[in-house]
Amino acid sequence: MKPDGAERVKIEEGGTFYPGPSRSHLAAFPPKERWDDWTELDSRAWPERKERYYTLVPTTCFNCESACGLLAYIDKVTLEVQKFEGNPEHPGSRGRNCAKGPATINQINDPDRILYPLKRKGKRGQGEWERVTWDEALDDIAGRLRKAIVEGRRNEIMYHVGRPGEDGFTERILAAWGVDGHNSHTNICSSGSREGYQLWMGLDRPSPDHANAKVILLISAHLESGHYFNPHAQRVIDAKASGAKLIVFDTRLSHTATHADYWIAPHPGSETAILLAVANYLIQNDLYNRDFVRRWWNWEECLRVEHPDVSPAFENFERALKETYGDYSFEFAAQESGVDARVIEEIARLVATAGTRFSSHNWRSAASGVSNGWTVARALFMLNALLGAVATEGGVFPNAWNKFVPRPIHVPPHPKMWNETTWPAEYPLSMHEMSFLLPHLLKDGRGRLEVYFTRVYNPVWTNPDGFSWIEVLTDEQLIGCHVALTPVWNETSYFADYILPMGLGPERHDLHSYETHDSQWLGFRQPVLKAARQRFGEQVRDSREVNPGEVWEENEFWLELTWRIDPDGGLGIRQFVESKKVPGSGLTVDEYYAWIFENSVPGLNEKAAAENLKPLEFMRRYGAFEVKKKVGAIYEEPVPADELEDLNEDLFGRVFSRAPKPAAANIVPLPTPDGDADGRRFVGVRIDGKILRGFPTPSGRLEFYSSTLANWGWPELAIPTYAKSHVHKDSLKPDETILISTFRLPVQIHTRSANAKWLNEIAHTNPLWLHTDHARKLDVRTGDLVRVETEIGYFVVRAWVTEGIRPGIVACSHHMGRWKLAEQGQKQLMATVKLEHQGSIWGLKREKGVEPFASDDPDTLRIWWNDVGVHQNLTFPVHPDPISGMHCWHQVVRVKKARPGDDYGDISVDTEKSRAVYRKWLAMTRPASRYSPDGTRRPYWMLRPLKPAREFYALPVDSAQ
Ligand code: SF4
Repeated sequence: MKPDGAERVKIEEGGTFYPGPSRSHLAAFPPKERWDDWTELDSRAWPERKERYYTLVPTTCFNCESACGLLAYIDKVTLEVQKFEGNPEHPGSRGRNCAKGPATINQINDPDRILYPLKRKGKRGQGEWERVTWDEALDDIAGRLRKAIVEGRRNEIMYHVGRPGEDGFTERILAAWGVDGHNSHTNICSSGSREGYQLWMGLDRPSPDHANAKVILLISAHLESGHYFNPHAQRVIDAKASGAKLIVFDTRLSHTATHADYWIAPHPGSETAILLAVANYLIQNDLYNRDFVRRWWNWEECLRVEHPDVSPAFENFERALKETYGDYSFEFAAQESGVDARVIEEIARLVATAGTRFSSHNWRSAASGVSNGWTVARALFMLNALLGAVATEGGVFPNAWNKFVPRPIHVPPHPKMWNETTWPAEYPLSMHEMSFLLPHLLKDGRGRLEVYFTRVYNPVWTNPDGFSWIEVLTDEQLIGCHVALTPVWNETSYFADYILPMGLGPERHDLHSYETHDSQWLGFRQPVLKAARQRFGEQVRDSREVNPGEVWEENEFWLELTWRIDPDGGLGIRQFVESKKVPGSGLTVDEYYAWIFENSVPGLNEKAAAENLKPLEFMRRYGAFEVKKKVGAIYEEPVPADELEDLNEDLFGRVFSRAPKPAAANIVPLPTPDGDADGRRFVGVRIDGKILRGFPTPSGRLEFYSSTLANWGWPELAIPTYAKSHVHKDSLKPDETILISTFRLPVQIHTRSANAKWLNEIAHTNPLWLHTDHARKLDVRTGDLVRVETEIGYFVVRAWVTEGIRPGIVACSHHMGRWKLAEQGQKQLMATVKLEHQGSIWGLKREKGVEPFASDDPDTLRIWWNDVGVHQNLTFPVHPDPISGMHCWHQVVRVKKARPGDDYGDISVDTEKSRAVYRKWLAMTRPASRYSPDGTRRPYWMLRPLKPAREFYALPVDSAQ
């Protein structure tokens, strides 16, 4: 196992480090030069010293959004994957993984996985299935799609994705079909944060440079389960090792909170008040970066609109700023949050010391829990904007600058339609599709679906209001054909017409690039057995040749399905899945990726050539490529002279040019503000006499003042403001409390980890967190059954009494409570249940928990746990935030001791009540049909996956009220 001396790079006294991107201690990784031929002792043969010989193939993990690098250890004799460890050549994860990465081996060996295409027999949801061939399934589905397209029913086609795990492949397939049918899980996940960030900087995610920060402020549990948490967590810990201070806001004592210098547990929904009190401290004491604010905030626009009576001088803006935020005192924040004013002041003083090395992050958590939750991200980024810690070392970058999306071989045009069932007019500013409202929109009669794909998505279990999902999924008038693309059984797949077995992470191709730090990298997921066989000189054309059973990778599936929709090319669809090398034949996955790597990734050709490899061979060998290090502050870059032609400059210094966009853009273009009335395009902003790139916002600057909010019906929120949430303490009745239902268990993966035995053994239940004082009042002890009543029903769960939560608030992880209706399913983590249904009243009753069972894996006889938690999400109605569209997860509930007859896991819901709650929240919106300033459905500058052609942004003529 000892590497050669030449493979060692000594970078500091006493430390020997791996020379690749990980820079980690050498002993952790086999050196890349020996990946073709690696030897380890067989642990099972101990004490015999039996050697096993491996070829090591990189891929990326698919168990969360981080896409960390993995190395598959493939036995050269058996050609089986023995294990997965970290890939030290991956710049984001640097060879490190969380528990879920190595557990990928459990998933590919899962005895309950789906291996063949299945078609339902009998009624949908009845639980009877027959095996069919891929050809039968493809022909039927392609025929339905073609018919819908030819008959002008494109709006009846929808693809609904949970974890995409790829950068745009399937969106382009939908665009090739001319369909605005992309639907995501974003509104049950991150819309709140996205809204806050997008309004400030035009891009909807933060990319914090944690490793170089002096002060880090995290809202939620980033060290164990936040967005990109493994890549971020290791950099947060690096920073702490260098002396950085960590502040954590979390109502619940998370693992992250245990590592904090300051942990505060605010009343849910009050976080914005605290952040604005910190901002106010910086403002009142002149501790902000004055020059940065003067140069980069759209203060002049703010002054002209909000204070038209004063001259547009920066000093007047500063005066107005002091006046506007003066009421956000520490005492006010303390009153709203329940956190001691002195502690908030200490935090403010600490933030003030960070200068431009202030990194911060909010993703789900507070921003996803409450109405107006998006204001949390907006107020948090305001601290960065005040300190000038934007795209600085140790600051926060807009995500797209730390991400690389290559141009693909074919780029279909924007669809010529607008889909009302994903982008209803009530939510013109939503981020993004109103996905969790689909059952209600279908019940409203706003559309029907001929073909509905769910892919790595399980809305019956993951979304709120799952019984309403079952009601529409079992209604064949509303959904003609439901195709579940999934490697494993899930609660939604029981209500499908086809279940098509898709490859797990190491059985498929994908490209991805995420904002893990200040760099741009490209990761390559690949079917590892295919890559290994190719290393041995074998030809593998189709991933079904190497995957178990008839498991297929999705890219090959989509290419084939698209071809079958338009076999003669007459619809203009086939051209987007044709080979460029052999016109008239189908595009292969190898050609698709080879083209991208050869034509769209700067520096990759040279890097590969230096090792005598073609770019595709290089990526198959190493699994990742660092495109650029230290991207820096793009907004400060001068616009090159060849982009400046026949300029027009507006009142606020926005510069428009007639010069065409340079072709150099290998990166998919970022959204940019609109051009001027004469057709010039926006190129930058004039700052102190120079024309600089700026930000992709309407003003080209950081938007302290949002003309978008002001013009689309929300002038009272045009600047960062605290607004009371739907769980504000003033609105609670004496017997009500707040349920925090959003937190992840660090070793589980929503729906997808029920097939990972190691993870299930570690975490398999979700008791209700209850503070000691609260439990005493309720006369409840750990392990007692309690009934939690929501607006539409109740669930019965066990209590866990703890000091690790704010008194009076309760919490339950959403990661548990998986169920199955019959034997099909994950036997190690799904309870067998009975559904009861009468009118609008639904019940779920547990028949049995999990138990040991015989399979090819002897470990399944060693299952010792029986409890798999409670499916609380079924009892939540939809709560769409009127602006961001985020489902506001926190629930106002009543917690009581269980009644006689209540059993663990019992659930009862009335879907008529859930309809009423949906209508109540719908009434809070300010629809585009009434508030649009320009007759469009949505501001064109705002991000939208799979944008339709611009003319389809226009509202229908008869929609104005
Ligand atoms: S953080 Fe864990 S689950 Fe997520 S990609 Fe990395 S190793 Fe996989």
